Amino acid sequence: MMRATRRTTRTARRRSRPAKRAAKRRLAKLVKPARPVRVAVAPPEPVLYKLCKPGWAVIVERIPNAQGTRFVCPFCPKSHRVPGPVRGFKKVRRAQWSRLRRVEE
Ligand SMILES: [Zn+2]
Repeated sequence: MMRATRRTTRTARRRSRPAKRAAKRRLAKLVKPARPVRVAVAPPEPVLYKLCKPGWAVIVERIPNAQGTRFVCPFCPKSHRVPGPVRGFKKVRRAQWSRLRRVEE
């Protein structure tokens, strides 16, 4: 009975000190950065790439480490390569279209 009590108090004392210190350190780290770190976690928006047909773009999902996707073009008999999974095709305004990057052949 006495042994058991002694053991528990000893372990409790030993544990409580470093835990408190760690908690303080963690709190300080959390409070310091003014900007939230969420920016990196935000889901990336799909990118548009120019297709061979003026005014048409392919919607490409931005996924890190993607090997790239080859898709059959709806406007020409060739296939094109984009850096991510294809989500679809979209008609865009001419001004926007000319600003986009071209798909690879
Ligand atoms: Zn094409």
